[in-house]
Amino acid sequence: MTPDQIARVRRRLEELRAEVEGAGNIAVRAEDIGPVPSAADEDEAPFREMDQSIASSRNRVRADQLLRIAVAERRLEEDPDSFGLCEKCEEPIPPRRLELLPFVRKCVDCQSAAEVRSSKPVRKKVTDYQE
Ligand SMILES: [Zn+2]
Repeated sequence: MTPDQIARVRRRLEELRAEVEGAGNIAVRAEDIGPVPSAADEDEAPFREMDQSIASSRNRVRADQLLRIAVAERRLEEDPDSFGLCEKCEEPIPPRRLELLPFVRKCVDCQSAAEVRSSKPVRKKVTDYQE
């Protein structure tokens, strides 16, 4: 990558970090959840639990994003020559893709190949649950 492209990716990483950090932590506080349900409204409890798990998975996603941004910044710092090369096929990742997603480590082809592979065991057909 040219020094200009590197500078652009670095700026983009800073923007992304500011974006993620600026969103603030999605806190799950007792007052948001409301009073402990009495026996009468027990039916609502599952919905409250669902809200909590949505909030905490959002926090996890953001923590993951921050980590990826930090890793990308370090790679850019320590090894700018190989930054922007697909870690799988070592072809240059298109600058346009890097500007959108500066922390990607694979080209589109390798990325989608990896996603297809990793999603396979997770997806279960309805028939898997039948006896
Ligand atoms: Zn590749």
